[in-house]
Amino acid sequence: MILLKQLLKRLDEIAPLAIAEEWDNVGLLLGDPESEIHKVMTCLTITQATVSEAIAKDVDCIVVHHPIPFKPVSQITTSTSTGRFLWQLASNKVAVYSPHTAWDNARFGINQKLAEFFQLENIRPMIPLKSEIVNRISSIVSEEDLRHLGTGRIGTVTKGDTVSVIISSIHAMIHNPIIERNQSLLTKVNRIAFVCGSGGSFANAAKKAGADLLVTGEATYHQFLEATNLGLGLVTFGHYQSEAGSMSLLSEMLGESFPELQIWRSHDERDAYCTEI
Ligand SMILES: [Zn+2]
Repeated sequence: MILLKQLLKRLDEIAPLAIAEEWDNVGLLLGDPESEIHKVMTCLTITQATVSEAIAKDVDCIVVHHPIPFKPVSQITTSTSTGRFLWQLASNKVAVYSPHTAWDNARFGINQKLAEFFQLENIRPMIPLKSEIVNRISSIVSEEDLRHLGTGRIGTVTKGDTVSVIISSIHAMIHNPIIERNQSLLTKVNRIAFVCGSGGSFANAAKKAGADLLVTGEATYHQFLEATNLGLGLVTFGHYQSEAGSMSLLSEMLGESFPELQIWRSHDERDAYCTEI
């Protein structure tokens, strides 16, 4: 018999909640840690599609990347989408756990995996953990792991690729990605920074860390301009595309730890965007 609290413990080992960004809302957001679990589903976001799938398939816990609720709520009623989803999940005893930025920044988390896919060398956090966080977690995390924890990742390109080679690698990673890039004059890339999701605001941090290219999920028009002003290349390939695959990886990691549980990534979840040409 597996209790929800055993799954929570494993999730905290994979992506320690202590390394999540300060503004984030992570951990068990709905549910009873003492409840028995049999089925776990991972997904990127709680939507009507993922809620309905979880209920139809008798899921006991959803491990969702994006937290819900994210901001404090004073009512849980069906008059808002957040309230409606939480009400439906609670009524069907479906717990909700979100690792969010703890998973982005984990030792084997999303940003690390992106940097590894591009076969970067000397991969390290783009922004290392603050010393107060290091002090707080040093007793539970190994020294080796501590060196690999922090926001984003930066690494050196093996041969000195061009931006178009980097873009080809994104095509190799994802089927039909929607790629945008700034009008930078950058021709040769030596160091790339990765920030999954909405990472356009990290242009300054990427530049400061020594990157000449920032690859992220999405950025605003003005963030593209800012990157150009900084002399930094900026490439985006979709918020969903930069993170959704990692929820398959997380379900596989959990499946190895709990072979007696049924664990899968949502089959019904879709990107929020579609493109018209
Ligand atoms: Zn995201």
